[in-house]
Amino acid sequence: MQTLVPRPANLAPLAPEFPWPDSKKTVLFTGFDVDAESVWIGMDRKNTDRLVTMSYGGYEARVGVPKLLEVLSRHEVKATFFVTGWTVEAHPAMCEAILADGHEIGHHGYLHLRPEPGNMDVMIEEVDRGLEALKRVLGVTPRGYRAPGGESYTELLELLVSRGIQYSSSWRDDIRPYRHVLPGGAGPIEIPVNFSFDDWNFGMTHRTGSRALFGREDVLNIWKDEFDQTREWGGVTTMVMHPQVSGRPMRIRILDQFLTYVRAYDDVWIATGAEIAEHFATHEAAGQKTCDVE
Ligand SMILES: [Zn+2]
Repeated sequence: MQTLVPRPANLAPLAPEFPWPDSKKTVLFTGFDVDAESVWIGMDRKNTDRLVTMSYGGYEARVGVPKLLEVLSRHEVKATFFVTGWTVEAHPAMCEAILADGHEIGHHGYLHLRPEPGNMDVMIEEVDRGLEALKRVLGVTPRGYRAPGGESYTELLELLVSRGIQYSSSWRDDIRPYRHVLPGGAGPIEIPVNFSFDDWNFGMTHRTGSRALFGREDVLNIWKDEFDQTREWGGVTTMVMHPQVSGRPMRIRILDQFLTYVRAYDDVWIATGAEIAEHFATHEAAGQKTCDVE
């Protein structure tokens, strides 16, 4: 048993303050986790033969993603889709359609296996197989990574940096991007997640728990309130949606109405993760240059 050292778990300095492009006040980062069937296989390998369980994930390619692409296109929103390697191999046409619409593709593991401290042998294979699948099937080298199952640890961040990943979008501890600090130096940029935008909590509860589903008004009000206050604070609203949840008939209206609400403001920068990370890196570099001169 390790000695407990009382110190912050995250040693990154506070998120730097810098302006958003075009004097925008706040940012909407529309992020999807495209798990398809891999989330169910990753939970239990036996699910491979449980065809009704698998069909929850199969909905993404048959209905969820095509319908979501329609909504995004209508609102002229470019999103980031974090896709597992298994999904890219199993549903190449679905993923090509995402790319064809100009959205960003990010890394989301291979078989959606959850990072657990100490399982680096598993995570090296997850990260490398995911990279290989994205490259071979889509010709994509991802810049961003979202941890499957929402967990991460230091050695995994080090691995991601060594594989060229520029940003992570998994932590829950800020409303502005910051850069991770690793024992050996700088880590990836973090674009933290707002867990109130994880639709799995509202719309997939009956399969993995006994809680009732949340209706449109409930979720829309939570999303509006979170967005409004994040806008006041000048932060980033990072969404965590899953096509097998938010692509369902009733739930897609929540996203549709939320995007209508957000787009009514003219001070919102709607950006992909790669765009936000690039903006952060530009200001970071400019800040360092200023320091060198002084
Ligand atoms: Zn996922």
